[in-house]
Amino acid sequence: MRIAIIGSGPAGFYAAEALLKRSDTTVHVDMFDRLPTPYGLVRGGVAPDHQNIKAVTRVYEKTAARPTFRFMGNVCLGRDISVDDLRQHYHQIVYAVGNEADRRLGIPGEGMTRCTPASVFIGWYNGHPDYRQAQIDLSMPRVAVIGNGNVAVDIARILLRSPVELEKTDIAEHALEALRQSQVREVFILGRRGPEQAAFTPVELKELGEMEGVDPVVAPGELAGCNIPASEGSSQQEKNLKILQAFASRQPLAANKKLHVRFFVSPVEVMAGADGGVTGLVLEKNRLVTQPDGSVNVRGTGEKETLDVGMVLPAIGFAAKQIDGVPYDKKTLNIANEDGRVIDPVSRAVVPNEYVVGWARTGPQGLIGSHKPASAYVAGHMAADGAGLEGRELPEPDAILNLLKQRGVQAVSFGSWKKLEEVEVVRGARRGAPRDKITDVKAMLGLLQE
Ligand SMILES: Cc1cc2nc3c(=O)[nH]c(=O)nc-3n(C[C@H](O)[C@H](O)[C@H](O)COP(=O)(O)OP(=O)(O)OC[C@H]3O[C@@H](n4cnc5c(N)ncnc54)[C@H](O)[C@@H]3O)c2cc1C
Repeated sequence: MRIAIIGSGPAGFYAAEALLKRSDTTVHVDMFDRLPTPYGLVRGGVAPDHQNIKAVTRVYEKTAARPTFRFMGNVCLGRDISVDDLRQHYHQIVYAVGNEADRRLGIPGEGMTRCTPASVFIGWYNGHPDYRQAQIDLSMPRVAVIGNGNVAVDIARILLRSPVELEKTDIAEHALEALRQSQVREVFILGRRGPEQAAFTPVELKELGEMEGVDPVVAPGELAGCNIPASEGSSQQEKNLKILQAFASRQPLAANKKLHVRFFVSPVEVMAGADGGVTGLVLEKNRLVTQPDGSVNVRGTGEKETLDVGMVLPAIGFAAKQIDGVPYDKKTLNIANEDGRVIDPVSRAVVPNEYVVGWARTGPQGLIGSHKPASAYVAGHMAADGAGLEGRELPEPDAILNLLKQRGVQAVSFGSWKKLEEVEVVRGARRGAPRDKITDVKAMLGLLQE
């Protein structure tokens, strides 16, 4: 059975492992990624000061070492190969392309200079080739980060953490240099709903209170009415409330940078100055409304305030990008699917032999570990649906490589990636970091041709 997996993030790798482990048939997996480097958001999303989380790639290396696995980096579906090519060369296809687009705020002023979507800022500090040239201006004292999830927390931490601490991480060199010159002293994390609805995980929230030279600030009034438990509690909500309560009772030091965690506010307009860049953010105060189904939503009160910030970073979630030939669900903003089987979004008929895993299937929910069972589940569908498929004759396994060569695409094997990695590790050692990333695709490909 020959299977193509598009995308080499956690969901793609866990799907590969589950498929390659099958004992009922021999599975050969070709994994494609549009970048020459594997691992998706583990390399390009997870914050550089969370190196322990990035260690999960050792598990993926084991999958990559299987003799029935091939990696083809620098091959983009929709640009270098088409869905039709894949259908010709493989029995089954798995889309594991993640969520590479940002959800929009939909408010006036959103597109202006220094109103920078989360993926741009995150990609910039993580050395993602798409965002290495992003113009990130850190000359202002105050920044707003919109969103109440871990992505907002990551962004706030990177903005405020001391460059000395960041030096020892794999943060991109260009970002480190910019952060060394940064004038940012105050960051506001803004949530539409209340502390009880926030999606932060307690470990990440707590870390905000542990940064050198940074005070977390929570207005006690915003915790009023919350059901704060006497002890730490066991649920995420209870733990978060205890942490926020501790922040609220802390006495900030005048010399420290400030990280304000605010609730019950929605951005309604990004304000611009004469240079076309952000000069402020208009917020509307919200109140909570419980819906008949028990869910909690917000309603604007009409009361407004203007936050004096020079940059706005919306971190309100992500969406899948549309790829030519891959059915897209415009409602969920993901690849159209039913339980991981790709479907036509209009007729809802199953597209045979095509599957989707990870964030491209569910939207941006779930930590890295959650993809292991979820991808294995979809691999289970593939085994059940694919009985006898391997009898269909396909072109030779190397035909896909020849096709790419004919098209002038330099596919990067896993061995070649390891060579790039060696270079990064050596470069990183100079600043005591685990690696110093190569951020330019041309430079990567050039190194491999030497
Ligand atoms: C900022 C941030 C921080 C996070 N921090 C943590 C954390 O600390 N701990 C944790 O457990 N989880 C964290 N997560 C969540 C975790 O990263 C995701 O759950 C996980 O990466 C999703 O896996 P995926 O395989 O679906 O997508 P991705 O990891 O995004 O992988 C998708 C892959 O598909 C490739 N691709 C896309 N389009 C194409 C195409 N057309 N052709 C070929 N290849 C393509 C991409 O290059 C990419 O390699 C974080 C997420 C973000 C955004």
